[in-house]
Amino acid sequence: MPPIEHYGIEWARRPTNEEMEHQWRITRPPAKSPMRLLILSHDITGCYTHFVHGRTRPHTSSNCEGCQNNRLPEWHGYLACLQSTNGLKWILEVTKGCAKALDEEFRTHRTLRGAIIEAGRTSSKVNGRQYVRVLSHAEQMDTLQKAPNLQPFLARMWQQRDQPLFNHEGVNDPIKIAEATSEPSATENREAS
Ligand SMILES: [Zn+2]
Repeated sequence: MPPIEHYGIEWARRPTNEEMEHQWRITRPPAKSPMRLLILSHDITGCYTHFVHGRTRPHTSSNCEGCQNNRLPEWHGYLACLQSTNGLKWILEVTKGCAKALDEEFRTHRTLRGAIIEAGRTSSKVNGRQYVRVLSHAEQMDTLQKAPNLQPFLARMWQQRDQPLFNHEGVNDPIKIAEATSEPSATENREAS
């Protein structure tokens, strides 16, 4: 029996090590002030997606849900990034308009890892056109943390609509979706095309 002073409560001085870690969260270039991010990924993880039933879904086949709803597939790219000012870890989602700057950077340096970028929008509207600009490069490459593999992260996020976004299988994975809400509201932030 626990001592009486525990009042029957399981006190915990701190959460688990895992819980104390910052989780990876999806973000998009913000409308207000641009984000300055350090890219950890070697290259872009990109795919075609549909905006269907108010959400971004992957284009999977010629008769996928989005294609059946006559939505044109649109490319999106994903990069694991570190926000150096606060140590937060982000999966940055960018639109096709950002791809050229990133592709050129990749061709020049043979990697995106270590690039310091500014990601923002050309207007202060939430659906303003996105841009990415390479500002400089990290000096200490050998101390950079490892980049996560984004394919399992995205695959899990895009599980079939009928399944939860976040399930028990994800608990022990190196990359976790911290909360189901980590997928930004697509309606709100969708870039005008
Ligand atoms: Zn499709």
